[in-house]
Amino acid sequence: MSYSTRQREVILEILQQSDRPLTPPDIRERASQGSAGIGLATVYRALKFFMAQGMIVLVEIPGAVPCYEPADRGHHHHFICQQCRLVFDVQGCVHDLEALAPRDFQVQRHDIILYGVCARCGAQ
Ligand SMILES: [Zn+2]
Ligand SMILES: [Zn+2]
Repeated sequence: MSYSTRQREVILEILQQSDRPLTPPDIRERASQGSAGIGLATVYRALKFFMAQGMIVLVEIPGAVPCYEPADRGHHHHFICQQCRLVFDVQGCVHDLEALAPRDFQVQRHDIILYGVCARCGAQ
């Protein structure tokens, strides 16, 4: 199947409808439930396109497969399950991080990654 604008739209919709960042194989799997057979190469091509447009961002977490999410999600953090390796969104933030920085230092940004076991893995 050739690469189409429609396939690209499907891939963006999948990312927008997901409540967690998705890996390229996740995206391909979900895309194949609707229109038959979107290949991984197509997924990567679309991701590259949307990255260049600034519409999606890469979420890089040590120990996790690189995954993607819409760029307009607002400030949030991530949780990685140490068993299934899925990455989840964590809403909210910790305040007073400024207090961790040495005196007279200015914090410009931060990143928080929670490591643990998700509800599904924890229930097994
Ligand atoms: Zn899990
Ligand atoms: Zn934060």
